[in-house]
Amino acid sequence: MSDWKRSSVCLCHSSTSTGSDFCLRSAVRKHNPAVDVYHSTAGETALPLLGLCEAAIEERKSDQRTHVLILHTEAGHSDVSQAEWFDNTAWVHAVQICDLERISHVDLLLTLALGFDFVLLQKLPLGHAAADQSREVELAQMMGGERRLELFVSQLELRNSMAELPRAGGRWPYKRPVLGPNRRATARACATVLMPTVHQPLNLPQDAPYGTVELDLSACTMCQSCVWLCPTDALSIGEHKCELVFVESHCIQCGMCKSICPEDALKLRPRIDPQPSADTQQILHQVEPFKCTSCGVPFVAKSMMDRLLARIWGRKGVQASEDVQELIPLCHSCQIQKQQGGNTKRAPMMIKAGQVSRQPL
Ligand code: SF4
Ligand code: SF4
Repeated sequence: MSDWKRSSVCLCHSSTSTGSDFCLRSAVRKHNPAVDVYHSTAGETALPLLGLCEAAIEERKSDQRTHVLILHTEAGHSDVSQAEWFDNTAWVHAVQICDLERISHVDLLLTLALGFDFVLLQKLPLGHAAADQSREVELAQMMGGERRLELFVSQLELRNSMAELPRAGGRWPYKRPVLGPNRRATARACATVLMPTVHQPLNLPQDAPYGTVELDLSACTMCQSCVWLCPTDALSIGEHKCELVFVESHCIQCGMCKSICPEDALKLRPRIDPQPSADTQQILHQVEPFKCTSCGVPFVAKSMMDRLLARIWGRKGVQASEDVQELIPLCHSCQIQKQQGGNTKRAPMMIKAGQVSRQPL
């Protein structure tokens, strides 16, 4: 016989406005002390389903049955109650969520990696929320939840999914993931555990928030515009300002680097790379540095300096007085020293036309 446990989780934070623990969005559960109101704590990663996952792990130690999690809304309460009457050999935890649209691929991956063999999620009614939910489910399936995660719209579909469980693999091997410092890192850690035999990056849908960037080396001028705009520091400038460095696990595929790049040198490639190398810095591009003409410290890409000087000399959109021209080939600290009237480490050279190679603009 199956063994069903029922509970409710409130994610709508209504208790913060009322001062007591009840869910404003649920008429049935209102004032019900059994509702677990989820409070996110400052500085902690918000993982509202972590508690029930931990409880499921404890159950697994003494119970060898397939562990199933059903997530549903208040409207799905009766469908789930009726499905409970049909014979099954699973251990089932059915959880009513007041704000089911807030359950994302991160939560779904967490439940599959931490304690549950299968997750059955009630499909939301048509609309934006339903489209978002389908996207999140597809993403979780591609990140390791394939064959273990399904949507249901009716009692019949729920019963059919339950009946298919033994054929769908029964109990899955379990290895506890090391949870990350944020939801994104947690999702990656869960995906790694859920795909133990995957050692190559897996392509994801176009709008997935994980992936890499591909750089056209012949087009990139190391102007650094993409680095300034990248909101997650996935792109940065390496040593001597002449290396473009990238960390894949930080990239959210927002596309800001691609849209700002004046040379159209970047392409986005949504994918998940479960290997630890995705957390390390990789050098996308490395160019010859230009050295400060006063102190000799490299401070900018030579190609960038060449282009700037070529524009000044060619009077193509950039004009600079002689004083300013003297400052251009100096590093920041030598520029300050010169502007404050101090001596630079050695007398700055005036760069004359022809001293650096000119490039076509
Ligand atoms: S990729 Fe584009 S924006 Fe980034 S440094 Fe190269 S040219 Fe500049
Ligand atoms: S897609 Fe967004 S997060 Fe990724 S490197 Fe470009 S700007 Fe940074």
